[in-house]
This record gives sequence, C-alpha cells and structure tokens, in this order.
Amino acid sequence: MCPTRLFALIAACVVAAGCAVEEESDSNNHGFGFEYEAQATNGLTLRNEPDVVEPIELAVLADIYDQTQACTGISMPGPFVIVMAEQVDEHGQPGGQFSGLTFYGPPLVLITQGAIWTSVAQHEFVHYLLDQSGFPRERNEVHDSPLFTECVHFCGLLGCT
Ligand SMILES: [Zn+2]
Repeated sequence: MCPTRLFALIAACVVAAGCAVEEESDSNNHGFGFEYEAQATNGLTLRNEPDVVEPIELAVLADIYDQTQACTGISMPGPFVIVMAEQVDEHGQPGGQFSGLTFYGPPLVLITQGAIWTSVAQHEFVHYLLDQSGFPRERNEVHDSPLFTECVHFCGLLGCT
C-alpha cells in the first residue's frame, strides 16, 4: 500500500540523487573504453573503476537488473555498467552532480558508489530498458514514464519501499 504522496517523495529523492541522460556517441564508448571485469548470464557487464572504495558485486547488480526487467515487463540483454568513485557531470566526467548517467549509443550506464546506488541503478536501468524498447528519447530524458516510480525503490534506513 503506497500512497501517491509517497511515490512523489520517492521520485523527489531519486531526482535529488541526480541523473542525466547523454546521447553523444563516439568510437571509444563515450571515452570509457570497453574493458570490463565480469559479465553476468543476463548480459550485464560490469567494471568498477580502480579508485572505487566500495566495489559493487556483479551478482548483486545483475539481480537488481533482473528485478527491474521483471517490473518493467521489458527484457533485454543487460547494459555495460561502470561504477564510478565520485559523482559525474552530464558527460560522465568526475566532479559533477549526478549519481547516475545513462548513455544511449552505445548503451552505457554509470553509477556512483555509495549508500544510494541500488535505487540509482534501478533508475538508470529503467532509462536503458525504455530506450532499448524504442521509447521516445525526449520523453525518457524527462522521466515521462510511470516506470520511474513503479520500478525504482528508494532504499534507506527503514529498508526499501
Ligand atoms: Zn533519470
């Protein structure tokens, strides 16, 4: 039982956590390269950057991706995810205000290590799955889909909503 007001609050939290969608394309995966450390059976590929203090485990992240696929009803091979040590700007460069960033072509998801990374990952996976399913990018960029509230759960001191 989740009142609309709570959803609004959760949405506000996620927005506060920060997110941007970047469409730029280049031949080197938006400057990040394609080197990865592990790939899950659902296709999700993971790299923790060397300066990350709290590396995210592949199995944990792959599980979150599976849950997001089930919730959205969209099934796609998982994205390439890079865990960053600090927040990034809209181009994925360190020192910005975003905890998560999704590039479209080629698909790449950046998430910042830390306490809120689970909900940030869910949020970015919704961006990714919507784009892969052909959802209009201009609507995706402004979070114009109920999936951003239905399939993103804020996890705090009281557990996950
Ligand atoms: Zn977003």
